[in-house]
Amino acid sequence: MTTAGLTACHDCDLLNRDVPVPEGGASRCARCGGVLRRHKTDSLDRTLALAASAAVLFVIANVFPFLAFEMQGDVTQTTLATGVDQLWDKGWYALAGLVFVTAIGAPFLQISLLLYVLVPLKLGRLPYDLARVFRLLRHIEPWSMMEIFLIGILVSLVKLADMANIIPGLALWSFGALIIVLAAANAALDPRLIWDRVEYSA
Ligand SMILES: [Zn+2]
Repeated sequence: MTTAGLTACHDCDLLNRDVPVPEGGASRCARCGGVLRRHKTDSLDRTLALAASAAVLFVIANVFPFLAFEMQGDVTQTTLATGVDQLWDKGWYALAGLVFVTAIGAPFLQISLLLYVLVPLKLGRLPYDLARVFRLLRHIEPWSMMEIFLIGILVSLVKLADMANIIPGLALWSFGALIIVLAAANAALDPRLIWDRVEYSA
């Protein structure tokens, strides 16, 4: 929280006066020593590069085959959306919706909104409705649960391994890489950098 040059400590709630933080440095609470603000090095460039990589990986993960099963000569190929499709066909609409939102919808929105915010900022322009879009982005983050989806897949693969020959597809590797790249993009992003722009433009 920031009001008129003051920042509240997340740990002890003390209001600290804002001080300029050099790149790579951090400001700390005067009472408990908790980190108030970390000024990440090249936050905009690094987050943008990672978000752009995430976009490419997302497309590959959704377009190419995810897994193939070979059972007695028959090969069944699946894509990322196959699971959602099959749950829907079985009438498990809520579960299909949940899998779609957490494994495809939320990551898609997250990557799109990151690029929507970062590309114009990189070009020195202010994205339209920046404050609302950035707040939306922060609300979507918890819904992006690709790692849980992947763990679920891996658990079922271990159980199926005796019954069928399982061939991992390009999309599976991309999906795994996407989880890491998107987490890195979130870690590289300095939210203060965005809010400062909102403040200046107001
Ligand atoms: Zn404190």
